[in-house]
Amino acid sequence: MSQPRLLIATKNKGKFREYSRLLQGVPFEIIGPQDIGGEPDVEETGETFEQNAVLKARAWSSLGDFLSMADDSGLEVDALGGKPGVHSARYAGEGASQSELIGHLLLNLRGVPSEERTARFVCVIAIASPSGEVEIFRGECPGLITEGPRGEGGFGYDPVFYLPELDKTMAEISIVDKNRISHRGKAAAEARRYLVSLG
Ligand code: IMP
Repeated sequence: MSQPRLLIATKNKGKFREYSRLLQGVPFEIIGPQDIGGEPDVEETGETFEQNAVLKARAWSSLGDFLSMADDSGLEVDALGGKPGVHSARYAGEGASQSELIGHLLLNLRGVPSEERTARFVCVIAIASPSGEVEIFRGECPGLITEGPRGEGGFGYDPVFYLPELDKTMAEISIVDKNRISHRGKAAAEARRYLVSLG
């Protein structure tokens, strides 16, 4: 009998590869948007990570007979009242580069002392069935925003996200270590446990 299918609903190839690796061994055939005909018209209009992840997972799951997994993630900075939050990718305007995003963030935190620069990365994964039932998994990774970028790895805000226990920024650790401690790694581990329990 063929395995049930799980769609990883992202068109970001790096993210697809990463999640495929994190979900290795689950009792599902992993498929991507390229494996199904068409794609849903979905806008990320939610005000929370949960809302956006659910919007995306439900939209994709309506296209066929498979579970759909979608995520939403971003950075919450306490001194900015939780911003940029769900607007993390667009914080410095549509299509802004990594250095523009970081520059905008550091400017808005100018003068804020280090002990008040607390922040967290958040990742929410939603898994929807074709009938629209949804399971949600949340992962968080706490840290501090530095005064300037450090490290070449990762993406987005990683070079200014400092991990006190490791005395390194998220851009100074390996992808293996990042997956172990990151918001995405933690949410994916929960999602993995759930998927295994369905087997
Ligand atoms: P999305 O979930 O792919 O839409 O990510 C939203 C935005 O949050 C990204 O474009 C990054 O700016 C930021 N972000 C999410 N996860 C990370 C991370 O692991 N490192 C750095 N930035 C991240």
